[in-house]
Amino acid sequence: MGIELSTPARLAPLIERPPTVATLCSHSSLQIFHGARVEGLASLGISVGPPQKFYDAFPLGRPDSFLTVPKVKEIGRHAARLRSEGAILVPHGSFVEYLGPEAFMELDVPVFGNRAVIGWESDREKERVWLESAGVQMPKRFADPSEVDGPVIVKYYGAKGGKGFFLAKNRHALDDFHSNDPHVIQEYVLGTRYYVHFFYSPLSDRGYRVGHGSLELLGMDRRDEANIDELYKLGSQEELLRAGIRPTFVVTGNVPVVLRESLLPKIFDVGARIVERSIELFGGMVGPFCVEGIMTEELEFKVFEISTRIVAGTNLFINGSSYSDLVAPQLSMGRRIAQEIKWARSEGRLAEVVS
Ligand code: AMP
Repeated sequence: MGIELSTPARLAPLIERPPTVATLCSHSSLQIFHGARVEGLASLGISVGPPQKFYDAFPLGRPDSFLTVPKVKEIGRHAARLRSEGAILVPHGSFVEYLGPEAFMELDVPVFGNRAVIGWESDREKERVWLESAGVQMPKRFADPSEVDGPVIVKYYGAKGGKGFFLAKNRHALDDFHSNDPHVIQEYVLGTRYYVHFFYSPLSDRGYRVGHGSLELLGMDRRDEANIDELYKLGSQEELLRAGIRPTFVVTGNVPVVLRESLLPKIFDVGARIVERSIELFGGMVGPFCVEGIMTEELEFKVFEISTRIVAGTNLFINGSSYSDLVAPQLSMGRRIAQEIKWARSEGRLAEVVS
């Protein structure tokens, strides 16, 4: 099953004219524009206010043209112009967050991937239903503090960048915890974090087959998280609190990592289950996604989150990674997106990768 079997009217201009890869100027846009350029596609940057000067510093990552809007929320007003330029919008974390998941889903401009995925990912409850029903291991959840039997992390809904998450070493540390704000109490998983960058192609008929297509592993990173990072999080939070500093998980950068080779089958199995279940639930996730989890000392991989689009950690690998180099030389995630658009168009299968 593809995303949409009948071609939506908004895809019609793409049959007539070559596509333009378009995205909001932020997050991973340099990589996305660079990937389009390498694949010979035009690119367009949507800039809030005048384009930032740093794009001039990177001639190979600068888009061919800019569309300037006064506010992100006004992008929808430019839908007709974007369609007439053959734009295919590439979603990234900042694009969806700044515009809002609902407004993004309603944009009347072709979007790379299946936009139905946004409804499943932006709601933590639905995301859990998807992953657990796929047979993916997740951190345990506690309905009530009295059930807690080890270290926990308390997550507030809508907490941006992990700001305001609360760590408790044990049940007693939760004694004074009262909150009326919606939150979940989750097992704090001890282990090593990995952010695994996958690409699912419904078009490909080679490689690691999943569904009717194939799953590619293009890279892996770990996020640097101020101010908690590897301070040996649980113990040192008391030191931080004594100093009047609240621990946060605000992301400040990324570092490349590789996994023990013997753990690769486990990671592919997790990725494949997530894709297969997405096909059953909503017609399938297409393109980049990131599985974010913790490998425990028992070598169990517990997934605390997925991102269903290009993540900023892929910016490490504009020139390829230890994994993507074994798929094709110099293959970034941005370039892989542009390739998929090109191949889909040449085979008349755009409706399977664009929605
Ligand atoms: P999230 O907002 O779910 O992406 O979580 C932000 C950060 O909190 C992650 O990058 C991890 O460092 C940490 N984290 C989230 N969930 C857990 C968990 N169950 N156990 C340990 N650390 C976690």
